[in-house]
Amino acid sequence: MKQIRKLLVANRGEIALRVMRTAREMGIQTVAVYSEADRLSPHVLFADEAVLLGPPPSNQSYLLADKIIAACKRLNVDAVHPGYGFLSENATFARALEKEGILLIGPTGDSMDKMGNKLAAKQTVLPFGIPMVPGLETAITDIEFAKKRALEIGFPVLIKAAAGGGGKGMRVVENPEEFESQMQLAVSEATNSFGDGAVFLEKYIGSPRHIEIQVMADKHGNAVHLFERNCSIQRRHQKLVEEAPSNILTPEVREAMGQAAVMVAKACNYHGAGTVEFLVDEDLNFYFLEMNTRLQVEHPVTEQITGIDLVKEQIRVAEGHPLSFTQDDLKIHGHSIELRVCAEDPTNNFLPDLGKLETYIRPQGLGIRVDDGFEQGMTIPVNYDSMIAKLIVTGRTREEAIQRMIRAIEDYRITGFANTLQFGKWVMQHPMFHSGDFDTKFIDQHFKPEYLEEKRSHEAEAAAFLGALLHPETNTAVVEQVADSAPVSMWKTRRLG
Ligand code: ADP
Repeated sequence: MKQIRKLLVANRGEIALRVMRTAREMGIQTVAVYSEADRLSPHVLFADEAVLLGPPPSNQSYLLADKIIAACKRLNVDAVHPGYGFLSENATFARALEKEGILLIGPTGDSMDKMGNKLAAKQTVLPFGIPMVPGLETAITDIEFAKKRALEIGFPVLIKAAAGGGGKGMRVVENPEEFESQMQLAVSEATNSFGDGAVFLEKYIGSPRHIEIQVMADKHGNAVHLFERNCSIQRRHQKLVEEAPSNILTPEVREAMGQAAVMVAKACNYHGAGTVEFLVDEDLNFYFLEMNTRLQVEHPVTEQITGIDLVKEQIRVAEGHPLSFTQDDLKIHGHSIELRVCAEDPTNNFLPDLGKLETYIRPQGLGIRVDDGFEQGMTIPVNYDSMIAKLIVTGRTREEAIQRMIRAIEDYRITGFANTLQFGKWVMQHPMFHSGDFDTKFIDQHFKPEYLEEKRSHEAEAAAFLGALLHPETNTAVVEQVADSAPVSMWKTRRLG
């Protein structure tokens, strides 16, 4: 058992801050690392100590494992929390820390190796009878053989990069004629993005729901699951809205998926917090996709419905403590939804739209949690992820959570660049989202940029209206029109004036 007194967080933004808050509650000293672009970031200001890593690009800062380890040694750091992304699933980094006697808040390098590659993961769980999407469990070497298998499975099929992540390196093939060309594209995409061109084949599940199970295991052989998160609202195979629990699962399916997830964790001798991802079809058949060997972006919705601080538990497990709860202790309380607030333009294919955070006012009130890493006036650096905050709401029921999310979005003020807030409101108001009966194609099939553009022009009108009330000297015509057509509360005019 090793007590952690000082923790270095090898990450930035909201996750660095979120981890440090828990560390402080546990009486642990914190060390931030930062790039030149993040000098004045909240995570740097929050930490007890901070170390400059280098220029903004990740490969000259947040990915510099050696520099981070040197800083740990210099500052007598006991443990490193890698957050998500960057070095969080890097087995070489995990091993290098181990060699130096520094704890990693995460699993061993061996567990990462077993799950880090989609094909290796399939091989690892194969003996345990975990349901898997029909396909090839090895890399395609012979195109003719693969095409034959694809015909047996039935088109459409999905060609996937073994080293894939973040929704990259996937190609849907509709018919045998396209197979070869799509495969070439997949291989070159995989080589360019991951430096590993190995691809394999999976049946393309027609109406898939992305449902994942949070697991937690200690170093004494105990492993439990903390229920599911439905992450089916995705663009470019990347999540935008997540919720817990999923209202389409029956208690029996939830239990079966939970047990399968625990089995996956045991198959790779896992310890710490991990996520086992499944696809669920219309008939509630579930198939193992992969395991993420780290804390996920969307972990807060699980914390909200279980009351467990996952980072605290991660730290305790790393120290060598047994889990502080059993499976029977865990219960679902209420419903929680997370919206990723990204500096992206939903009306322009969700392309990044970075800039200066001119206005930034967070929503408040019962059941609202904002995990973020920026303050008003800051410029969002172009070098990293476009996610600037996570808006998490919790209610006693799913309906209450949805209404709370709509209210929170209305209270959230962000100006300076396009973002996903109004898109989130559109999702919350969509009848299909309400019903819970939606799959990963929801955005592609139902969202049209016009929905937000129309709204935006209404808002522009409303803003002009308000402007007229605020500056009557320049807008007398409008004010008169207002006075004529709609009674304006005197309280409001006085306040605004
Ligand atoms: P990544 O590691 O890049 O995130 P995943 O294997 O986790 O890749 O898949 C990401 C998303 O791609 C899933 O949530 C789902 O929307 C879609 N997907 C993956 N495999 C399949 C499949 N066999 N059939 C249909 N959709 C799939």
